[in-house]
Amino acid sequence: MVVDLELEPLTFEGNVFAKPIYMAGPCSAETEEQVMNTAIPLAAMGIKIFRAGIWKPRTRPNAFEGVGSKGLKWLQLVKKETGMLVTTEVANVKHVYEALKYGIDIIWIGARTSANPFAVQDIADCLRGVNIPVMIKNPVNPDVDLWIGAIERINNAGIKRMAAIHRGFSSYDKTLYRNIPQWQIPIELRRRIPNIPIITDPSHICGNREFLYDISQKAMDLNFDGLIIETHCNPDKALSDANQQVTPEGLNNILDRLVLRDPEVKEELMLTLAVLRDQIDKLDDRIINMLEDRMQVSEQIGEHKKANNITILQTKRWDDMLKNRLQLGMRKGLSEEFVIKLFRSIHQESINHQTRVMNEG
Ligand code: PEP
Ligand code: MN
Repeated sequence: MVVDLELEPLTFEGNVFAKPIYMAGPCSAETEEQVMNTAIPLAAMGIKIFRAGIWKPRTRPNAFEGVGSKGLKWLQLVKKETGMLVTTEVANVKHVYEALKYGIDIIWIGARTSANPFAVQDIADCLRGVNIPVMIKNPVNPDVDLWIGAIERINNAGIKRMAAIHRGFSSYDKTLYRNIPQWQIPIELRRRIPNIPIITDPSHICGNREFLYDISQKAMDLNFDGLIIETHCNPDKALSDANQQVTPEGLNNILDRLVLRDPEVKEELMLTLAVLRDQIDKLDDRIINMLEDRMQVSEQIGEHKKANNITILQTKRWDDMLKNRLQLGMRKGLSEEFVIKLFRSIHQESINHQTRVMNEG
């Protein structure tokens, strides 16, 4: 069922931002110098919205929890010097007052906060009568109704300029990603609230720089509305989320390579394809993790063989194994040729791992 919200286009001072909307800036504002050294090149690249965390929701205590209100002055300076709009995360009523006092242009509600209806309602109540755009990150858990609920609470308080930020979902299993994208969830959000812009946050999905481009391209392929990408003048020295931040130059490189497609070509088809590809990605991820586990067991066998001076290759064992895998595989509809190739290659990789272990030290 479609959720009917009273939304207006994401305009700023009367201007509608052209799609895709790019937002960039550091995970956290750390010093005035770091903020300005990041903001100036971003503005020169044409970025119109600058992000920076002032209050950081850290999972464990004793991590860097943000500089607090004093950083808001640096964001004011960014506005004044570059003309970019500035956005920061608010998690409680005090943050909202502080952000409004310092003229923050857009606020966002983080993933840990949007998972908590009490916290969202408190923020909604204090936003009543205020005309500021609000972006709502998906909750940390993959619950589309909880995400929609947070959007509704803020919208019911009279906020009409809104966006949803897709930042992925936590899971106990280790995966390629820090937060699994689960594309079917923002796709379902689009179905349920067709007119809310969806901004993808590849940084918190990936947790590292390596996959930012792929996730960004995927968001564009799905016809989502923009990207928010953590950018830092010196990412390796960042006080939070160092692995996932890029330099302004790195960001430029990602944005330059993005292919923007014509949204008119059958969005339905793209969405169906995306859901299926998402399943493939997850399965491949599991395959890789299982191969990693398998190689670890092989290495333990290597240790054992080394300690007892046994040869690596046990021909009888390999022969039995291949026969058994071939039977299993063919029963599951895999071709003989494929199963043989696959297990030869896995076996070879195991031998390589064992060889390394046995010749160490
Ligand atoms: C952030 O944007 O820096 C952040 C803390 O994000 P999230 O709420 O998605 O974890
Ligand atoms: Mn971050």
